[in-house]
Amino acid sequence: MTDKRTFDDRDGWIWLDGKLVPWREAEVHVLTHALHYASSVFEGQRAYGGKIFRLTDHSKRLHKSANILGFELPWSVAEIDAACEQVLEANGLVDAYMRPVAWRGSEQMGVTASAAPPHLAIAAWEWGKYFDPALAAKGLKLDIAHYRRPAPYTAPVHSKAAGLYMICTLARQQAELKGLDDALMFDWRGQVAEATGANAFFVRDGVIHTPTPDCFLDGITRRTVIELAQKRGVEVVERAIWPEELESFEQMFLTGSAAEVTFVGAAGPWNFEVGALSRQLAEDYDDLVNGRLPNR
Ligand code: PMP
Repeated sequence: MTDKRTFDDRDGWIWLDGKLVPWREAEVHVLTHALHYASSVFEGQRAYGGKIFRLTDHSKRLHKSANILGFELPWSVAEIDAACEQVLEANGLVDAYMRPVAWRGSEQMGVTASAAPPHLAIAAWEWGKYFDPALAAKGLKLDIAHYRRPAPYTAPVHSKAAGLYMICTLARQQAELKGLDDALMFDWRGQVAEATGANAFFVRDGVIHTPTPDCFLDGITRRTVIELAQKRGVEVVERAIWPEELESFEQMFLTGSAAEVTFVGAAGPWNFEVGALSRQLAEDYDDLVNGRLPNR
């Protein structure tokens, strides 16, 4: 059951800078650098049946994201993996969403914070489906985002950095105001990029097409789903996709650690069906994360 309380008022334990602290005591000061200047990177991962799916890939990406933002985490990938397992266990969770987050704290204020040591926290909670299952079953309705994914020379696009989510939150908010579920974002060139928190895939004539992740996250779920499709002998083409082409695709789905495999029914003026290949891959992903298919 999903907890309806606010996120600062729950029971349980949060790992903070090396030790487990009571949930309500995992606090930061208002003069935290990250709050003012977005010096924060994070992960989103899920545990299924007590096992965190592709945990080391997530911990490695957290390290990489921090490095891209110019800071080095004082905990190794193995230590972060162990801390994640510890959080899951301390909270008695089996199926959960987990949020490791690293940031610059209140040791230094002003744009530069090079002297400030980074902090790390890991929280976990029960979180059902990211999108309403009834809406997802029919296929989500996506807005087309006003803002575009920035160019690699404009922002650190390969870091899962909190700052990059500013335009995602705005896009999602704009979509919800229109009664839509999420938004499809184009990139600075006008090519199709991704949704606000998930990668995008398209199906045409039994072939899968997905944008090359050169200015957005090459998601861990994205790579997993590509492998699952290839294992079924389905061709997957990674390439530039222009909006003009969206008309010709039959199916569309999103992938992400939170979103898993989610069907899309419409994106702006373009409509899609929830087809057999999308359903098959959603089922394969569900089997894989739940240990019913061999994990690599
Ligand atoms: N793009 C964005 C903007 C995201 O927030 C996410 C979720 N982390 C993804 C793509 C998918 O990444 P992953 O499959 O690694 O969760």
